[in-house]
Amino acid sequence: MNANIQSFLERLESRTPGEKEFHQAVDEVISSVWDYYQQNPRYHRANILERIVEPERIIIFRVPWVDDRGEVQVNRGYRVEFNSALGPYKGGIRFHASVTLSILKFLGFEQTFKNSLTGLPMGGGKGGSDFSPKGKSDSEIMRFCQAFMNELYRHIGPNTDVPAGDIGVGGREVGYLFGQYKKLKNEFTGVFTGKGLTWGGSLIRPEATGFGAVYFVQHMLKRLGMDVEGLKVAVSGFGNVAWGAITKINELGGKVVTISGPDGYIFDPDGVTDEKVDYLLELRASNNDVVEPYALEFGARFIPGKRPWEVPVDVAMPCATENELDLEDARQLVNNGCHLLAEASNMGCTANAAEYLTNTIAYAPGKAVNAGGVAVSGLEMSQNSMRISWPREEVDARLKIIMENIHDTCVNYGGLPGVANQIDYVRGANIGGFVKVADAMLAQGIV
Ligand code: NAP
Repeated sequence: MNANIQSFLERLESRTPGEKEFHQAVDEVISSVWDYYQQNPRYHRANILERIVEPERIIIFRVPWVDDRGEVQVNRGYRVEFNSALGPYKGGIRFHASVTLSILKFLGFEQTFKNSLTGLPMGGGKGGSDFSPKGKSDSEIMRFCQAFMNELYRHIGPNTDVPAGDIGVGGREVGYLFGQYKKLKNEFTGVFTGKGLTWGGSLIRPEATGFGAVYFVQHMLKRLGMDVEGLKVAVSGFGNVAWGAITKINELGGKVVTISGPDGYIFDPDGVTDEKVDYLLELRASNNDVVEPYALEFGARFIPGKRPWEVPVDVAMPCATENELDLEDARQLVNNGCHLLAEASNMGCTANAAEYLTNTIAYAPGKAVNAGGVAVSGLEMSQNSMRISWPREEVDARLKIIMENIHDTCVNYGGLPGVANQIDYVRGANIGGFVKVADAMLAQGIV
């Protein structure tokens, strides 16, 4: 590694000890943009790199709430307001036992470049709590969401910071969070995205991340002279993003042969058809956190304690969480004939896996592939501001255009000199996202 990049990262690590996910995310971006940065002295004169890795503001707060037995519980809440150069902070809220400041900083950092790639006026942020909705009653979830908002409401607003859902935060949680915000502020505004359709939500928002990821895959495949129809796809997870991706792949004639949960994965050679997807939705709605019941219901195979990347497929789409696919998994996929890997989860691949995949097959990172979710959130903000609601076809058409533009940006900045037709999507997405944020920071002075 370049000695200057090395010393930059060492400085970062000594200022933010133990934040390994954040260091991994910064390493990937900095390594991609370093040469471009050096070629543009206006950026280093303004010390843009040192400034861009420092969140503008971090809020950490106590969330006390009372469970169904009347006992007092305490969780920790966070909001990382990372960068507002392009617009109000924008990014999801994650409720999962694994949440730490490092994870939210990595997600907020990634979000800054992802939002820039969409071309919409949104800065980057992320928040959440180490609270897990799994196994909690509906009343407990409502009380927790209200307690979380009792502090967060001071820091957000439609022109300041607009949260959305993420892992563990779906329509139900957004409803409770929004309701408490409305009560505390006494105003009905577009402060959240992912809202219900009858109270300001956008059509297509629930499906947008998965749909957008598949639209992106279509463009990647086109460059390889291929099409989704007839392809076998491995998906991980069985949450919101997996659902959207599977639905769109089915519509386009592909076949999803795996899904997974924390307990293991399902191999279904007949494909996860729409009828089976409906069952998956019911499974999740029942607050269930294991995927094994699917195997019993449909006679598919359940492989306990393993990940789906050992199954031979044409396309792989991680849709669960960060670092869910390592170097060994990547090698196995490639050796089994996989042509393309598109991360629908954020930082789904470990750094080693990402580097290996970039040098072997068509591989694209989460900040490009899953940007459709936040893109439609941006469209939800526009609809809220105009107090109108676009039809499904219009939102979907805009989503398709945005995903095509993001793909074009990756191709534009990710072309490899002297190598015809091979794209480094990581480099393309990172430089493409960086340029707009850095230029806006330059224009806005030292703030
Ligand atoms: P979700 O509906 O909560 O589903 C997440 C899935 O991943 C579930 O199957 C979950 O299993 C599994 N999972 C979560 N944490 C895990 C862990 N530590 N180990 C193993 N499995 C784990 O969340 P989602 O909205 O689909 O998000 C999935 C990914 O997409 C995340 O990386 C998220 O940041 C990213 N993303 C989401 C959106 C969006 O619009 N929702 C947009 C952009 C990116 P259990 O719940 O059973 O643990």
